[in-house]
Formats: sequence, C-alpha cells, structure tokens
Amino acid sequence: MDPEKRDAGGFASVAARIPFDEIRGQVHSTTSEAIQTALRKASLQLPLDFQDFLSLLSPGADQSLEQMAVAARELTRQRFGNVIQIFAPLYLSNECNSHCTYCGFSVGNNIRRKTLSMEELDREADTLYEQGIRHILLLTGEDYRATPVEYLERAALKIRDRFPSISIEVYPLKRDDYARLRPAGVDGLAVYQETYDPARYKEVHLQGMKRRMEFRLNCPDRAGQAGLRRISIGALLGLSDPASEVYMLGLHARYLMHQFWQSQVAVSLPRLRQATGVSNIPEVRDREFVRYLLALRLFLPDASITLSTRESPAFRDHMANLCITQMSAGSKTDPGGYAVSEEGDRAAEQFSIDDHRSIFEIRSRLQELGKDPVFLDWSTVLK
Ligand code: SF4
Repeated sequence: MDPEKRDAGGFASVAARIPFDEIRGQVHSTTSEAIQTALRKASLQLPLDFQDFLSLLSPGADQSLEQMAVAARELTRQRFGNVIQIFAPLYLSNECNSHCTYCGFSVGNNIRRKTLSMEELDREADTLYEQGIRHILLLTGEDYRATPVEYLERAALKIRDRFPSISIEVYPLKRDDYARLRPAGVDGLAVYQETYDPARYKEVHLQGMKRRMEFRLNCPDRAGQAGLRRISIGALLGLSDPASEVYMLGLHARYLMHQFWQSQVAVSLPRLRQATGVSNIPEVRDREFVRYLLALRLFLPDASITLSTRESPAFRDHMANLCITQMSAGSKTDPGGYAVSEEGDRAAEQFSIDDHRSIFEIRSRLQELGKDPVFLDWSTVLK
C-alpha cells in the first residue's frame, strides 16, 4: 500500500495494511548496502523513499550519525533558514476519564484536579502574553463533560485577540467541531498517536475514549478536512519499538502532506517522562534519539520538527542547530501553573519537564547560537 495515495478511510485504513511487526522485522534487518544508498541520496539531497527512511532508522545507521547530521543540518538551513518557532502550552484542565498507563492525569490517579474558569484563563494568558508568547497551545485531558467543545470555543474566543495563532491538544473531535472552532481562532491541532503498534495501544489504553485507536488515527484527517492550518503529530517513544514508531510517524506525516498540502505538518517525538503513577520507564538513549530526529528531517525536508521542554537545555540547544524548527518555552504542565496557582496549592502536572529556563533565557540562548527565534509568523489579518 502506498501511503501517499488518497484513501477514503483516512490514515487508519492505510496503517491497517502495514503490519507493525513486519516493520519491526525490516528495520532491524536492513543491509549495509541499503544504508549506504540512503546516505548517498541524503548527502546529494535527493528525495528519500520509504526504504531509505527505514534504512536510516535502523541500528546499523548509528555509525553514520555524523554524516546524517551534516546532511540534515544543511537541509534544515535551506528550507527553514535559522528560524525556530516558539510557542507555549497552556493547560486548561487536568480532568480525564481515560486510563493511560503512561500519564499523570490518568483517571485512576488520586491527584488534585482543576479546570480553569474563563477569568483564570485570562490571567494565565496575560502572563504568557507579557513574556512575548503569541502562539499558544491549549491542552486538556479527555473529559467531555468538564471541557466540552463549547468550553474550548469560549476559551479560544477569550484569548484570540492576544494570540494570533491558537492550537489545541485536546481529545479527538469530529470534523464539524474543528470547523466550529476555526472562527473562534483555533488554527492548529496537535494530536499524538502515542503508539502506532496496535497491540501495545490496547495494553496502555485501559479505559475511556482513548481506547478508540482508529478514531485517533484519523483525527488529523478530520482537522485537515476542516481546514486547520497547522497539524502536529507524534509518537511517544518508550511504549513500543521506537524505530518502527518513527517509521510509521514518517509515513503518517507524508500521507498528511499529500492529502492536505495547504496545512503545515509538524512531527514530534516526545520521550516518556516521569509522572504520577508511571514507573519502569524504558530508556531511549540520546544517540539513538538523535538518529530518529535526523532521519525524520532527511525523509521530510519540509516538515516542522518540534522538541519540547521534556528534553534538557543542552540537548535542545544542540538539536536546534541540526534539525529542530519548533520549540515550546517556559512550559508549565499543570492548569493554573503560570499565574493562578499559589505555591503549595498547585494542581497536578501531566509530566515533569527538564528545560526549566524562562522564555527570555531560551530566546537569548537561541540568538547566541545564531538562530532566529520567531514568536509570530501569522497575522490575524490573514485569518
Ligand atoms: S494521555 Fe490524555 S487521555 Fe490519557 S490519561 Fe493522559 S490526559 Fe487522559
């Protein structure tokens, strides 16, 4: 099945024809000839096909990491210049009816829950605005009653005058709901599949709407059909075989870029982090992680690649010079974390972060590195 072909069943029907176990087998049995072919094409900036992508993800490509980095850095500079887009997450709620084994908001966790009132949202938004943020990502858990579409719409309307670009990372919606949120100022969707491995998907999603894997897989299709301008997808590394996850993510991104050429597609690879109720976190080592990010850049020259504050300052600075084009900054992962909550009275975080620098510090550091941090790339005049 060619993932670039149009399919009425969305990406879920494409993925159903690509057995995850077969990908795992192929990625770990790539020949050195295939790796050399992919590297040669990458160095000459020729388009990579699916086999090339698979080869660069394989453990055998590790010894060519330097060569991959040089090619990825050059490609990034050509397509994006020195620009790093900056945004900040704003958690509206940590209420959730789903049970996901890797998340601190999971329904069974005995944590302090909170959903922001519109007044509280106003204060959180003001704090980020004063620090220069203009692209904001609104997040919730999966609780359709605590945070229904009407609530999301009111939240977007509340802040749209201050933030020309508003993305949402909430539970999967229907196409009409995305279309409804557009006039309220929502122009982007982030929805991470977590794992593309159907067997693992069942094992880690034990309760709630999130168990519906196909509905989630087709979520970016619905956002594209509703005309959202930014679509971000990702895989949470640590749940299944990482190289196979990245392969499926690359396919998914290329599929979306063909289907919805008018939208900007971004990819992300969050690594599993410590959170309430989460233990035994499998390690995805830095070197291996870098290989995946570089392979994504070489396979998807025009896709944005996002790196979050889950990663350390040193790692983020290093990757900003190679292939990253989008970063969160100054992040808090608890609702009310920027301005509303008093110390000692905070709602629970979704996960712990590693880059605790302020937005100002991150901007200054990127400038020192010769990068051009951009807070606004879009005007409301164009909406
Ligand atoms: S990952 Fe999302 S759906 Fe799952 S427990 Fe966390 S907030 Fe809820």
